[in-house]
Amino acid sequence: MTVIALAVGGTEIEAGVLAEDGALMHSERRFTRAERGPEAVIDTVIDCAAELAREYRPAAAGIAVPGIVDEAAGTCVFAANLGWRRVPVRDWLAEELDLPVAFGHDVRAGGLAEARLGAGRECGSFLFVPVGTEIAAAIVLGGEAFAGEQGSAGEIGHLVVRPDGEPCPCGRRGCLQTVASACAIARRYSRATGEIGVSARDVRDRADAGDAVAAEVWRDAVEALADGLSAAVTLLDPECIVIGGGLARAGAAYFDPLRTALAERLTFRTAPPVRPAELGHRAGCLGAALLARDLHRAGPATSPQPVTPRQISQKAVG
Ligand SMILES: [Zn+2]
Repeated sequence: MTVIALAVGGTEIEAGVLAEDGALMHSERRFTRAERGPEAVIDTVIDCAAELAREYRPAAAGIAVPGIVDEAAGTCVFAANLGWRRVPVRDWLAEELDLPVAFGHDVRAGGLAEARLGAGRECGSFLFVPVGTEIAAAIVLGGEAFAGEQGSAGEIGHLVVRPDGEPCPCGRRGCLQTVASACAIARRYSRATGEIGVSARDVRDRADAGDAVAAEVWRDAVEALADGLSAAVTLLDPECIVIGGGLARAGAAYFDPLRTALAERLTFRTAPPVRPAELGHRAGCLGAALLARDLHRAGPATSPQPVTPRQISQKAVG
């Protein structure tokens, strides 16, 4: 029994095919090119899934999307980076593929994959925190990612950690992701030096090489993340923290100061272990594949509901 899966991101769509034994038979990435508009993005997603379905004849499909998602309804309620508002992704994909489709949130799907296949395997509870363009967390409890009442559990990127800090697209100032995301590290270094085109990885390399500005930007990012994580640990007391995204590849230059900063903040208790994710950029896609496999194994659902026409109206995206 084969399943296909897609994880839709603001920059890339990660697609894959999972074999019966859980092996990844095929994977590919396509550019999202969200600047083409919300309808073009959904067309690309559906075309990619349809091509994989024709080639691999899967039993089910899974899709994970960013933003605020209603997992029960199969709807992307709002994804700023895709321009999607109230897009019934699951139904549109199911209609196009004529397959059962599992639907999830990208970070929660990634957390599920890390729980079953990656760095969270041994943990009863953990926070999966991908640090990339933005920052969000999956709260994984007993192998399931907790979605919350409105589907927005774990949005720690919008915890205010620097009240007088930079404005965030959410409307507040000093959110965690304005200091600690990979984009924020690059942006803050560029602003301080006037040099453009510098990545978070470059900032780390320059900090290692003795660049004082880079070292300060890097330290600010680590300390802000420790502030956010200490709030999450205080509230949830997870068994461990799994850091994903591009910054998780920075190794000891990231994890050593992060562990120290977290321990300094959790004065009343021992800090949980902080470890890098194991599945890299494939976590969301693998999670969507696991959701598809679970759906298939659960057996046929109730009869499908009539599907609304596949068109994102101006009203819906306005
Ligand atoms: Zn914010």
